Amino acid sequence: MHKKLFIPGPVDVRPEVLKAMGTPMIGHRTKDATELQKSVSQKLQKVFHTENPILLSTTSGTGLMEGSIRSLTAKRAVVFSVGAFGDRWAELSESNNVPTDLVRSEWGQPTTPEMVDKYLSTGKYDVFTITHNETSTSVMNPMEAIAEVKAKYPDVLWLVDSVSAMGGAKLEVDKLGIDVCITSTQKALGLPPGMSICSVTTKALKHGEQVKYRGSYLDLLQLYEYVEKKPYQYPSTPSLSHMFALDYQLNYILNEEGLENRYSRHLKMAEITRAWAKKHFDTFAAEGYQSVTLTNVANTKGISVKDLIARVGERGYLLANGYGDMKEKTFRIAHMADTTIEELQEYLMVLEEEIAKLKS
Ligand SMILES: *Cc1c(COP(=O)(O)O)cnc(C)c1O
Repeated sequence: MHKKLFIPGPVDVRPEVLKAMGTPMIGHRTKDATELQKSVSQKLQKVFHTENPILLSTTSGTGLMEGSIRSLTAKRAVVFSVGAFGDRWAELSESNNVPTDLVRSEWGQPTTPEMVDKYLSTGKYDVFTITHNETSTSVMNPMEAIAEVKAKYPDVLWLVDSVSAMGGAKLEVDKLGIDVCITSTQKALGLPPGMSICSVTTKALKHGEQVKYRGSYLDLLQLYEYVEKKPYQYPSTPSLSHMFALDYQLNYILNEEGLENRYSRHLKMAEITRAWAKKHFDTFAAEGYQSVTLTNVANTKGISVKDLIARVGERGYLLANGYGDMKEKTFRIAHMADTTIEELQEYLMVLEEEIAKLKS
């Protein structure tokens, strides 16, 4: 039995999108591949609210996180972490021998603009990273306030992990001045896992020229060079299947549902889930910083989340436990991609019924 996915990635994929994944193969050096690439990039620019070039990588999002921090940091990076995925960025950076400082917030709390200001004002850094939407804690960072601080440091590059938010929450890359913005296909965009996407400024690429060892497969400069010089092609064979599916799904997002409608559906789902969480338990993330694509429920009643997962599993749903150390202390309800409000409400009812059985 297929379990309906309410985990924060991979998400359920619409059958039409799966069908587009199965489009007959084309040569990756053909004009058709160039056209496909161009089409996907132009649509992604709209989703990212950017005019910056778009790079695709046939890796999951972690690939571009590693590639961007490695190929663009010439001096020292400061990684602001609000949870497991922030910590991951620091691990990726350190393991590539990039001088890195890790600045952690207490889990459940955001990165504040004051923190960013304090570190950037030292002049020690040429790169800083922010997690837009931290999937381990369901904290959404105050991107506009951080952007205001960032504007004071035009020479410092801003790298953003928007893996679990892009396509579900509005993030205006150009308006905020984000140099590299990264997402994966299997979260709010609603595709299978296997490809990641980023936008990158020419300023960031220019800066990267100072970095001697940028790696190769995930070197942003090399990816860009191919997109630029051999217009819209890639150094190695990309997942053309994902590109067919992206082209299809982006048409749906932009022209059928509409971006603004998509954002408001996500917000509505978040409000419903937060209210449900507060009624039965509590929300985990600090007020004012709660994610619009998933909700961490604080397990205030001390139920067995493991048992709950088994029970809802029998009813055809997949529930996510807390991440890492937060297992059993929290559980996570994803409300992203193409999930409808009706599907979410049905799921919350099932959860409620099974929780009631657990307690008796
Ligand atoms: C899922 C996720 C990642 C990792 O992305 P992959 O595509 O699994 O490599 C990174 N950051 C955040 C916030 C995520 O939710």
